[in-house]
Amino acid sequence: MKIYADNAATTKMSKTAIAAMMPYMEEYFGNPSSLYTAGQKAKEAIESARATVAELIGADPREIVFTSGGSESDNQAILSAAALGRAAGKRHIVSDGIEHHAVLHTLKKLEREGFEVTYLPVHENGIVRPEELENALREDTCLVSVMYANNEIGTVQPICEIGARCRQRGILFHTDAVQAVGHIPINVAKDHVDLLSASAHKFHGPKGVGFLYARRGVKLSNLIEGGAQERGKRAGTENVPGIVAMSAAMREAVEKMDENAQKLITLRDYLIAGLSEIPHSALNGDAARRLPSNVNFCFEGIEGESLLLLLDDLGIAASSGSACTSGSLDPSHVLLAIGRVHDVAHGSLRLSLGEDTTREEVDYIVESVKNVVEKLRSFSPVWRDLTAGKTKFYL
Ligand SMILES: *Cc1c(COP(=O)(O)O)cnc(C)c1O
Repeated sequence: MKIYADNAATTKMSKTAIAAMMPYMEEYFGNPSSLYTAGQKAKEAIESARATVAELIGADPREIVFTSGGSESDNQAILSAAALGRAAGKRHIVSDGIEHHAVLHTLKKLEREGFEVTYLPVHENGIVRPEELENALREDTCLVSVMYANNEIGTVQPICEIGARCRQRGILFHTDAVQAVGHIPINVAKDHVDLLSASAHKFHGPKGVGFLYARRGVKLSNLIEGGAQERGKRAGTENVPGIVAMSAAMREAVEKMDENAQKLITLRDYLIAGLSEIPHSALNGDAARRLPSNVNFCFEGIEGESLLLLLDDLGIAASSGSACTSGSLDPSHVLLAIGRVHDVAHGSLRLSLGEDTTREEVDYIVESVKNVVEKLRSFSPVWRDLTAGKTKFYL
């Protein structure tokens, strides 16, 4: 069996999205800034995609800037809000500890430039508390950045409550909605969002394209200077096929959202129930307020990396929260933020299901994880000490 259970990392492009982009590579490949027909066709396609994307999140087309993806959108949103804050003498930002590195590293850069950042706790369930946000807001707060849904543990934040509190105080609110767009309902007006980041490859669109929503009146600073594309907010010849494919993928995802979510929630909870039978294991993140596709577990006494490699041998593509593969031995900052100790956080596994995941596949995953965890524990000196009572179990 070959099972792809890493849809939070990236998704397979949908047939609809591939079909939508083809004419803009073969026929209407002209530069959208050119005046002849092929260029104008490309220009029209971009504007039509902008209208679609805007409509699907309750925005106005003029509020959408196409970018190269989630990371660029996060950078531009946060740096723009910081520039506005700096100009007004406000240098305080509120965020939380489980943001994506595209947000966290941008905030670190601003801290080095004299900004002060308050990181809200996310507690054991991985969710920010709106009343704690309220207490963190100050006279000099220029931005609140809290993600819509977390990429590792799938927890969905109380975005509407956070947005309302920010709007009431006139503080800009940015949300990294990369994991949420196309998966759970989003309306920027209802949620009181000022800036929102999205990325096509997380909802069956192509890699290297995304968008930034910026509410009218919120002035963006440029990350990339050059031509006057995207109303002067993002220079560079537009990724026409990517933009067209993104809007097609997004429409399809939103149209099928309810149906897909219901199916996924059933499979997700079935998978969670199966993995919960493994002794000394625990689900990470709130059991209910999580993305329909996300399952994340810690298994005590094993290494997440070894687990992944053995699952790969069995045909299962999954992910681990720890960053050992990237040369660092630090466990996931998200798992540490929800209170997992280092040793436990190292034994993590993220399975992110897709719309075509089947019950048979879930059965195979549960069976495989059970076997692999047992095998790894049988070799593990950490597990031996735990079972011998030399060290104590956390889970
Ligand atoms: C994937 C992801 C990003 C980065 O998006 P790219 O398009 O890959 O740059 C940012 N934030 C979250 C929450 C993500 O899951």
